[in-house]
Parts: sequence; C-alpha cells; structure tokens
Amino acid sequence: MSALPGAVRIREVGPRDGFQNEPEVIPTERKVELIDALARTGVKRLEVTSFVRPDVIPQLADAGEVLERIDVPESVAVSVLVPNERGLDAALEHHAKIDEINGFMSASETHNQKNVDRSVAESLDGLRRTFARARAEGLRCEGVISTAFGCPYEGHVHPGRVLAIAQELAEAGAEEVGFGDTTGMANPLQVRDFFEQAGPALPDVELTAHFHNTRGQGLANVLAALEAGVESFESSFGELGGCPVPAGATGNIATEDLVSMLHEMGVQTGIDLPALLACARAVQYHLGRPLGSHTLVAGPIDWR
Ligand code: ZN
Repeated sequence: MSALPGAVRIREVGPRDGFQNEPEVIPTERKVELIDALARTGVKRLEVTSFVRPDVIPQLADAGEVLERIDVPESVAVSVLVPNERGLDAALEHHAKIDEINGFMSASETHNQKNVDRSVAESLDGLRRTFARARAEGLRCEGVISTAFGCPYEGHVHPGRVLAIAQELAEAGAEEVGFGDTTGMANPLQVRDFFEQAGPALPDVELTAHFHNTRGQGLANVLAALEAGVESFESSFGELGGCPVPAGATGNIATEDLVSMLHEMGVQTGIDLPALLACARAVQYHLGRPLGSHTLVAGPIDWR
C-alpha cells in the first residue's frame, strides 16, 4: 500500500449541497448560526450557498442575505456555487464575502441536459466565460464535474472523457477540479484507477474528490483516492445532501465520519471533531429527523 499523506484539505459543503436538498426551507437565521459554528471547527474551506434560480431551488433563495450575515474568520476560504454567468453576477454583489466560486457541469451528456438543460459543450463554453470573469475579479475557481464515476442514465462514464473535460476546465482557469460521484456509483478500484490517471494528466491542478455515500462506499472510495495521491476532499456535516436521482438516495459522505477515519489513520485535517459533531447535532435537532452520519450516533473514538 502506498503511503498516505500527513494531512488533507476538506471543503465542508453541507450549507450548500445539504441545505439545497432539504425538503423544507431552513430559516436564514439558522443557516447563519450553523455556518458561523462550522467556520470555527478548524475547517479551512466552506461552501456556503449557491446562486441558482430561486424558483428552481427556493431552499437557497436567501444566498445573498446568508453571505452578508455570516461572520467567518479570515482563515476560512468561503466559496459559492454558481451555475452560470447570471449566478456569477449575483455572487459578485457580495464580492467582499467570497474567496472562491465553484462552477459545475456533468461528464455525461444526458445528466447535463436534464440538470441544466444544456449540452456538455454549451456548459463548457459558459464556464469558460464565467471563470474568466471571476478570475478578473480576483476569485479562485473550482470546476466541479458531476457524474464523473457513473451516470444514472448512461451508466459507465469513460475516464478519458472526464479527464478531457477536466483539462478544458483547467485551461479555462480552474485551479482546482472536483470529481463528483453524484449518485454513488463509484467503487474503490475504479476510484484508484481514475486518480492514478488524473494525477499525471493534470499535473498543475488541485484534484478534489467529492463522494456520495449512496451505496455505503463513500469512505472506501476516500481511502482509494488517498492511496492514489488525492489530498483534497468535499463532504457534508451530518451526511446532509443528496441528489434527486435516484429518489430517496442518501447524500455526501459525512464530514465527521471522514474526519474520524482520517485522524485514526494519522492523516490530519485541522478540524476539531467534537466541535464538528456539535454542528451536526444542532442541524439534526433543527431538521427534526435522524441524519445518516455514523459518528454522530456513535461519538468519537475516545478510549485512550
Ligand atoms: Zn455532493
């Protein structure tokens, strides 16, 4: 087995990926409290909201207000998801509160068409314009590729196709490319093979793994990615979040499960696990239903 890195970077995406997929709209006040608490757990990257059409995703209609009201330490990079240039325009009204933007598209034609009603080529064109403008405004850009490990409509997605899109995003100005297992179709051998190819193919790009725990394989996929050299991950406190397809599927890997596993393996994250668990407990209380996170139920390993 290859040596694991001594430390990794984690972007907490629950306030965006999680809150967006809750059936009810979480009050702005609660979001602000939770984001401010998350920002004090030691996490260095926080995706706080998304500038999407409020008629499509009413859960995040308060994106601007959330950004204006949060109080996040300087040491935490704040990112927002923007689907297109209109989203960027809205985000730029809160420029002072933002460090990074994340622009997304799908690797598979069918998923991209169903998700954003554009072809993959049209999405790439849009992201080229969006990233160019964001960089001119001094914002760091991450390109996120959904369905990078499998598509619920098309099945297998060829790694060469995903890497070609990643290279296009890098040329468009993305310093970081995230690879999303949007519907939890990835397995650890596939993940290891993929990132062993991605490293040499994208030498100057930060590679980020974004796994979903839809079929319980999220953390196994993390280990495979670590072994293939990945040092950047996205996850969601409480295991919040999901995807409308397949219906009822669970979401992102829980940040506290990820942090617990990494710390036990000697891989540092900078995150205080009890402080993070307090955030997950708080959101579970507000939502009024048990969340998928395992460490939230079991607590930290604490026998020493
Ligand atoms: Zn996700």
